[in-house]
Amino acid sequence: MREVYKNIYLAELPLPNNPLKYLNFYIIKDQGKSMIIDTGFNREDTKEDIMKIFKELNLKPENTILFLTHLHSDHTGLATYLEEMGLTIYASKIDGDLLNNSVEKLDSMWQDTIQQGVWQGLEEDQLDIEDHPGFKFRPTAHINFIPAIPGEYIQIGEYNFEIIDLKGHTPGIVGLYEKEHKILFCGDHILGKITPNITFWGFQYGDILGTYLESLDHVYNMDIDYLFSSHRFLVDDHRERIEELYDHHDKRLDEARKALRKSGRSTVRTVTKQLQWDIKSKNWDEFPKAQKWFAAGEAHAHLEHLRALGEVTMEEEDGVLYYSIKE
Ligand SMILES: [Zn+2]
Repeated sequence: MREVYKNIYLAELPLPNNPLKYLNFYIIKDQGKSMIIDTGFNREDTKEDIMKIFKELNLKPENTILFLTHLHSDHTGLATYLEEMGLTIYASKIDGDLLNNSVEKLDSMWQDTIQQGVWQGLEEDQLDIEDHPGFKFRPTAHINFIPAIPGEYIQIGEYNFEIIDLKGHTPGIVGLYEKEHKILFCGDHILGKITPNITFWGFQYGDILGTYLESLDHVYNMDIDYLFSSHRFLVDDHRERIEELYDHHDKRLDEARKALRKSGRSTVRTVTKQLQWDIKSKNWDEFPKAQKWFAAGEAHAHLEHLRALGEVTMEEEDGVLYYSIKE
């Protein structure tokens, strides 16, 4: 654990067997109320790590806020455990509700994920929701939370954090901005080295890649000296990193256009197979099942963005979606 700014500590919580490696766990300490940001996976080792930190910094659970940036299980896995310990939880209404709707297999978030797989043409891959990493490591009980409403503030000692809407990586991801000290806790909105996963969340959330790019525009214009991300190294220059992320998605959109030109009317699955992936497998059949969900979701988000731009059309046939480029 190290102090990264006055009274702000950073500890790394391991995420075994996960390409993200660890969660950057932040603690903002004050004599009165303190705050921790996100939790790591629901694992015994992680509980012990957090307990050690509480002891070392002399944090009192009843005087500590747990701020959840977004619903992913590497950020929320121990929310129930920490709530039982006496912490007060803040989460955005959207992600908090989604989290509470993903406890059981039959809950709406998993049923929606299964439906999306059918739309994407993944039925022939015979994926099971049990293969979905989000399902495997999900929290196993509901949480009670105070809605984190963008524009409202949380005061911790000398810091006055504004809750900031960062939606895109998830439908309701939020960050904390301290204007005077030029600090932004951004969750997974911007990461060093790794490109944040942007996936299709269902038509009710619209063009989510477009939404993500707008959230990037917003942060680009913010005055930030310290960008505290949730994984990997800390980014020095947020504008430089945002430009790299714009480039990444531009290239991806181009790949999707090329795939549609080559294959004509295509399912999301057909397009996904033609995109470049960092995974070491020769072809789609060898692609790890867990990654097929993510890959198709990402391709789908890009196709929906092209549709929002008016470049692509979509139609449904026998429950499967087909995309075509407008010539
Ligand atoms: Zn995430």
